[in-house]
Amino acid sequence: MSEPSVFERIVAGEIPSTKVFENERVLAIRDIAPKAPVHLLVFPKTGAYADVAELAAGDPALLAEIAQIAQQLADEHCGGQFRLVFNTGADAGQTVFHVHAHVLGGGLTEASL
Ligand code: 5GP
Repeated sequence: MSEPSVFERIVAGEIPSTKVFENERVLAIRDIAPKAPVHLLVFPKTGAYADVAELAAGDPALLAEIAQIAQQLADEHCGGQFRLVFNTGADAGQTVFHVHAHVLGGGLTEASL
């Protein structure tokens, strides 16, 4: 067994977080080091999927649910417009290998890609 990810520890209540959404399968929190005026993280409670490709292959409905929750959160926090980012692999900046969507919004006027 590998160590639980930071997000599994947040789900378990071992690490505090600011929750903005929760249901049976998904949790969303504020990022501890925001890179945009609105920076939320949306992830499955299960740590079974390391990245978005694993999630897409293993549970596509859960990936779709995360996208829908991202829209709902953007509606609530930043006028419905947002950037959805899944860093995939260390070379792409992924540091937590428990799939998570970054929801970025609130005045992103320049594309970074
Ligand atoms: P990644 O770099 O893997 O795409 O994104 C991981 C994100 O998790 C980073 O933006 C980082 O700031 C955030 N993060 C890491 N540890 C914690 C934590 O303990 N609490 C919260 N709220 N965010 C965290």
